[in-house]
Amino acid sequence: MSGAAAAPATSARRLEGAPFASEIRDRVAADVAAYVAGHGHPPGLAVVVCGRSAPSMVYLERILKACAQVGIEGSLVDVPGDDPETQARELTAAIRRLNSDPRVAGIIVQMPLPTGVGLRTVVDAIEPLKDIDGIHPLNAGLLRLGYEGFIPATAHAALEMIHRSGVEVSGADAVVIGRSPVVGMPLAFMLTKEDATVTVCHSRTRDLAAKVRAADIVVVAAGRPGLVTGAMLKPGAVVIDVGINVVDGHIVGDVDFASAERVASAITPVPGGVGPLTNALLLSHLMRAAQRQDQAKERFDA
Ligand code: NAP
Repeated sequence: MSGAAAAPATSARRLEGAPFASEIRDRVAADVAAYVAGHGHPPGLAVVVCGRSAPSMVYLERILKACAQVGIEGSLVDVPGDDPETQARELTAAIRRLNSDPRVAGIIVQMPLPTGVGLRTVVDAIEPLKDIDGIHPLNAGLLRLGYEGFIPATAHAALEMIHRSGVEVSGADAVVIGRSPVVGMPLAFMLTKEDATVTVCHSRTRDLAAKVRAADIVVVAAGRPGLVTGAMLKPGAVVIDVGINVVDGHIVGDVDFASAERVASAITPVPGGVGPLTNALLLSHLMRAAQRQDQAKERFDA
């Protein structure tokens, strides 16, 4: 064995989501109270579910609990059907009903959809003003052009964590691993808008380690446990782990936390990092949707 002294282990700052989430929920609760005073009822969030699985129910119950905490009226809308054709038809019908329900200010659809039911079904049906998770092409297009619309809550949470790490985004080299329309790509657009130089990596990327090693900011949203290790990181990098995976009955992210926290300057844990912030931001999007619908109605009535 080598007699060289081990370098003293440093530890990255842990970016916990709970304190930030609690600040956001307090602000939303105040806005909800003002809304109730003006309307006589709370704003509603409809969560559309196409086929229930145990892990997705845990996630949905968390959202409904978070709604109740701030006074939002959360509801689960079950879509019936045993085959993709029926499910797609019923999904469209359910979303259209919610679009025209004045007590529902925001709609989210639980992902992944059942096999054979495409995201396009949701995209074609959802009203952009109620699309609080930013999947409608209008919202996705506004984001792409750098205008304000609804952005996916998970990408928003990852960006918020980057801001809260204190890293200077402008001019930074950022690597985003994952190019999905709900996490990787929206985040890449947002970071580009904030003047980072962004490299988007995916399953066909060659030499991922070299790309990661060059980055000041690393966001991992691949759904692959242990994909990024401390040995791949530039010392002092900010690491945002969006991944949620179940390994041996435990929830873990995409980053090997133990090795990464010795090299990074700040890192989000899983669980407890991006996840809680995502839920809180979703509530803030719901409240913003309710306010925007009021403004649209005022313009229409004027
Ligand atoms: P997704 O649609 O499955 O996309 C995964 C992306 O990762 C794809 O672009 C894929 O590349 C890329 N990828 C897969 N394996 C890779 C590898 N070995 N090397 C590099 N890239 C690889 O997933 P998603 O919906 O974006 O979600 C990503 C993760 O975030 C999942 O673990 C999900 O559970 C989690 N998530 C967390 C939250 C939260 O609130 N924290 C919310 C939503 C999702 P290709 O495009 O080439 O296939």
